Amino acid sequence: MALRFSKSKLGDYKNCPRKFYLKNFTFMGSRRPSEEPSYLIDGRYCHEYFENYNIGAEYEMDLYNDFVKANIRNFHDLLRKYGLDRAIYAEQKDYDPDLDLVTVIDAIYEKDGEHWLIDYKTGKFHKSKMADLRFELYLYVYAAEKHLGITIDKMGMFFTFYPESSFVEKVSRKKLESSIDKYKSEVDKIYGLQFPRIYGPLCKYCEFIYCCESYKDDIVE
Ligand code: SF4
Repeated sequence: MALRFSKSKLGDYKNCPRKFYLKNFTFMGSRRPSEEPSYLIDGRYCHEYFENYNIGAEYEMDLYNDFVKANIRNFHDLLRKYGLDRAIYAEQKDYDPDLDLVTVIDAIYEKDGEHWLIDYKTGKFHKSKMADLRFELYLYVYAAEKHLGITIDKMGMFFTFYPESSFVEKVSRKKLESSIDKYKSEVDKIYGLQFPRIYGPLCKYCEFIYCCESYKDDIVE
């Protein structure tokens, strides 16, 4: 069975395997909130703008609120700072059946004969999450190299609301290899049906708190 893993699914598994299980394998997880939070809507507008810019499409600034406009201003400042303009590949969606991995690459730029893979983030940068951010980028590097047949020389993230946190760095072949190994071992745990609970302060915000102790079925127990 293909589960079509993505960086966000793996992040969910890392935060709490039981929550991942309840969300992805039970009827409770298929229920979705009727209203989308505004930060998701704003984030989507920003990403639409970035993509439109990269493909040279028209856009209308007046449609956007102050948060989105600030992200757009910072996006252009970051392009100037790094000497970039439009990406040669934008919004590359891909599924790799060998790894059962879904990726969406925001942008690949060509600069001085090199390829730079950049992910756009409108949320906050947390230094403590740096290892996770690099892991995410290495999955995209893997997908880009395999499916586009190019070599990615540098990778980075543009934090368009916190531009000073943005970074671009050289791709390490050793780290690319170890990230793919790490991915495979995480996925093996999921296929091995390992879904322990991880209790923490965030449990009080978890939509499954009412049933996470008591829920029983043949797969988990
Ligand atoms: S309440 Fe806590 S332990 Fe239970 S599923 Fe949610 S995050 Fe995991």
